[in-house]
Amino acid sequence: MIPLHHIGKPNYLVIQFNLYKNILMLENYCSDPDCHCDEVLLNFAQLDEKHKITNNLLNLRVDLKSGRIIEKTILEPAVDADSIIFEFNQHFSQFKSHLNENNQKVKNYFSAYHGQQLPQEIVDLVNGGNCVDYQKIFGNINQISFNYLNETYLIEDQYCMNPTCLCDEVVMVVYKPNAVLSEVLFRLDLSDDSYEILKYNNKDHIAIIHHIIENKKSILESRYHRVKAVGNQFLLVEKK
Ligand SMILES: [Zn+2]
Ligand SMILES: [Zn+2]
Repeated sequence: MIPLHHIGKPNYLVIQFNLYKNILMLENYCSDPDCHCDEVLLNFAQLDEKHKITNNLLNLRVDLKSGRIIEKTILEPAVDADSIIFEFNQHFSQFKSHLNENNQKVKNYFSAYHGQQLPQEIVDLVNGGNCVDYQKIFGNINQISFNYLNETYLIEDQYCMNPTCLCDEVVMVVYKPNAVLSEVLFRLDLSDDSYEILKYNNKDHIAIIHHIIENKKSILESRYHRVKAVGNQFLLVEKK
């Protein structure tokens, strides 16, 4: 969850509840453009007459479509949380479009590359015919993870960024959190799901690859297109 003010000037609302006046509602959104959790984490904080936060009252995790409260965390023990929740629910239709628009803003922000140019390191990788780690371009958030047989795995996904190449390939390093060795390293062709195993340390590596293809294919495709778009934006001219 990322606070809205991390991506620019926020348009936070100040709410007048019956029992609590001048309550600032800070909004935190899921930054993963491929995640459809549709949740917002709201933080309600008391402002003083100088518009400074004096007291943090409570956090609510809310379903953006229905307004349902998924989770509440009381930060000020004396707060009458139920009265705030009641009024919030009662007036959710007034907050709904505001919150959903800001959710979309955060998703759009994390779908795009914000640098003025690509770092030389990335240009060198592409010119050398190498794939580029998604996180090198879009930051070290939104890493793909999955569970297989009660184990958590992480994927480092690398894409061909060369705008003139239409290989449709992603190279994946699959590893367990904090592990020294990777479990499997393979190349997947997104156009026909064919793959080439480059290295493995896990006897279930084929099953793991199939699990990834079955469950993560659409995410890998959108990430491929996102990386290609950055390649198109910055590398097309240099290739001519
Ligand atoms: Zn999410
Ligand atoms: Zn390629």
